[in-house]
Amino acid sequence: MQAYDQTAKKALGQHFLRDRQAIRRIAAAVPEGVSVIEIGPGPGAITEALLARAGRLTLIEMDDRFAAHWQRRAEEDARLSVIHGDVMRELETAAANIRPDWIAGNLPYNLSGPLTAKLAGLDLPGGMVLMYQREVAERIAAAPGSKVYGGLSVLVRHHYEVRRLLTLPPGAFVPPPRVHSAVILLTPHRRVPPCAYADLQQIVRKGFAHRRKTIANNFRGVLTAGRFEAIGIDPGMRPEQLDYAAWTRIAAELSR
Ligand code: SAM
Repeated sequence: MQAYDQTAKKALGQHFLRDRQAIRRIAAAVPEGVSVIEIGPGPGAITEALLARAGRLTLIEMDDRFAAHWQRRAEEDARLSVIHGDVMRELETAAANIRPDWIAGNLPYNLSGPLTAKLAGLDLPGGMVLMYQREVAERIAAAPGSKVYGGLSVLVRHHYEVRRLLTLPPGAFVPPPRVHSAVILLTPHRRVPPCAYADLQQIVRKGFAHRRKTIANNFRGVLTAGRFEAIGIDPGMRPEQLDYAAWTRIAAELSR
């Protein structure tokens, strides 16, 4: 791993985890014998620990060096398979074909937002254990009313409960990033979502377009104050005050 430190590709968000305790805790979140997709295995800090537990492990990696390395390993281990490509293109098809129980990954920082929006739409039976920059993890785990509560905080609650598992300083990685990192655990809440995920995504994007404006303003020309009141929402509220259930009521009202 030290060798890779010299050649880590910034554009691919490469910061390799070297904290053994963190590696153990991430892998331990995944039950033994299940099917897992790991996003961005890199040189394999988490991959080796996952391989020791998983019944089946599929890796999605864009970097040619790492993909080639894991493809060679996969030839010797029938439980392992590799998708060499961009997770933003490959994720949904891979999830539909493989039907993983779990997804794990120390995610490339530059993809956090759009990748999480994709991940949150997948209804996995097991869950997800995901590493982010601490600020992004805080946004995802935030509750309504918090300054950092936003679209991602709403989207992940469609299928999951969110919990912070651990926080790590820059020195837990080579090369060290500039900021702290945090691992979050997404566990399925198993309630039937009251609206389609694609509708929720659209509503949340529109509703949070101007955080400082009221929701009546963000939905001007689309939903009247009277219709907000009819679904029990004060149109003078700001988007960060609305909980998941309120967002789904807006989605349902708009699809009527
Ligand atoms: N899992 C390793 C670890 O924890 O040490 C590496 C984590 S590093 C933060 C992110 C990994 O994601 C790198 O291996 C990088 O090459 C890979 N990656 C970056 N962008 C990607 C993309 N669009 N699709 C698939 N993999 C990507």
